[in-house]
Amino acid sequence: MNLIDLTIAQLHEGFKKKQFTSAEVTKAYLDEIKKTDGEIGAYLNITEKLALEQAEKADKIISSSKNFPMLTGVPFCVKDAILVEGEKATAGSKMLENYVAPYDATVIRKLKELGGVILGKTNMDCFGFGSSTENSAFKVTKNPHDTSRVAGGSSGGSAAGVAAKESCWALAEDTGGSIRQPASFCGVVGLKPTYGTVSRYGVYAYASSLDQIGPMGRTVEDVVTVFKAISGKDPMDATSVDYEFKEVNVAMKGLKIGVPKEYFAKGINPEVETIIKQAIKKAEEAGATIVEITLPATEYALACYYIIAPCEASTNLARFDGIKYALSEPGDNLLDVYLKTRAAGFNAEAKRRIIIGTHALSSGYYDAYYKKAQEVRQLVREDFQNAFEKVDVIFAPVSPFPAFKIGEKTDDPLAMYLADIYTISLNLAGIPGISLPAGKIGKLPVGLQIIGNHFEDNKILAVAEHMEKLLQ
Ligand code: GLN
Repeated sequence: MNLIDLTIAQLHEGFKKKQFTSAEVTKAYLDEIKKTDGEIGAYLNITEKLALEQAEKADKIISSSKNFPMLTGVPFCVKDAILVEGEKATAGSKMLENYVAPYDATVIRKLKELGGVILGKTNMDCFGFGSSTENSAFKVTKNPHDTSRVAGGSSGGSAAGVAAKESCWALAEDTGGSIRQPASFCGVVGLKPTYGTVSRYGVYAYASSLDQIGPMGRTVEDVVTVFKAISGKDPMDATSVDYEFKEVNVAMKGLKIGVPKEYFAKGINPEVETIIKQAIKKAEEAGATIVEITLPATEYALACYYIIAPCEASTNLARFDGIKYALSEPGDNLLDVYLKTRAAGFNAEAKRRIIIGTHALSSGYYDAYYKKAQEVRQLVREDFQNAFEKVDVIFAPVSPFPAFKIGEKTDDPLAMYLADIYTISLNLAGIPGISLPAGKIGKLPVGLQIIGNHFEDNKILAVAEHMEKLLQ
């Protein structure tokens, strides 16, 4: 038995039966990271000392109680946007290159309390800006299925870490697709929960009305386990809601699955389309009813997102002024410090977003861009509300194409933004979506996206468990 092949559920069983210890599993992962991460580049920082200490603690819990939590002793990795006390948290940026987190994010506090083992912090596009992890200030994460290709982004490190068996599961963050798209590219399961179900206290804010933390794992069951553990109201995050995950029984027979016609119109790679259509066919054969639906605002969603997200990002990044914390470049006067710090700390993509955001929020342009985008956002929401009056869940692609070549889109930001076409609408509407491996084009995985109404995360997870079996 290879310890790094096991899921959370299998590790839990093994711990219970005393087949192996958390320290052994943790060492197996640390060895694998040392062996393969030079090539893959999933990690920015390996927290070996912390991991070994946590594993030892977990082994004490395991040996002294029969009923310990599912995540006790299970090693995982964390997107570098999420704070782990005493460890660096760079958000993939030069600005925070040497920043050490003074406290734990709420999700980390919860996972520590359950006896989880943190292997390290994973690579990402700086501040979450990107779809390929090529915008990291430090390195490009490679796709474990084909190292000439990207792992996706912005949580490319987390997805590649799980896919390369350098971690059992991962924590990531999704503002416009950053959990689902890299999960799809790397062939792992990734959940973006309903907005507000998971606390964001201790995660760098990219776009506060869109950001959501969620899990990546090898199976839907594992993702459910983590989601249960991290969700719920947090007094430290006013946007978090009183949510408790409850299992539901959902039968494929009689399930109404909506398929948005706009998602199969133009621009989708024909092989991706075939894989998604085959998955829909399997659901139909299992007794589901397929209903064509329309999401007419889809054509404006990308433009709407790329106004709202940069507006919120430009405001959130204003705190990096070289004075309060993080990077500070010496200058002749205060303005000089601001200018030099921001010139050195932000890369081209961050600067692009700040310029777009501040422009769209400036007096004279606010009504034309930001206000208009908020109106379009309402239309995107209404599209989904209308759809969910007719169907239980929606099936869609995650990305129009599989993992692309490293460097292929770096000179063309607009081409990169198109990678988010099927994922951003969910963030604009605040609804949940999961990416589930559905097939492969050659070596390259392709994910199916299952979308649900607000707080029906349990429903999409139940459907995903059925689909996982049907797609095997
Ligand atoms: N690729 C999208 C962007 O660049 C989404 C990123 C994210 O979800 N953090 O904004």
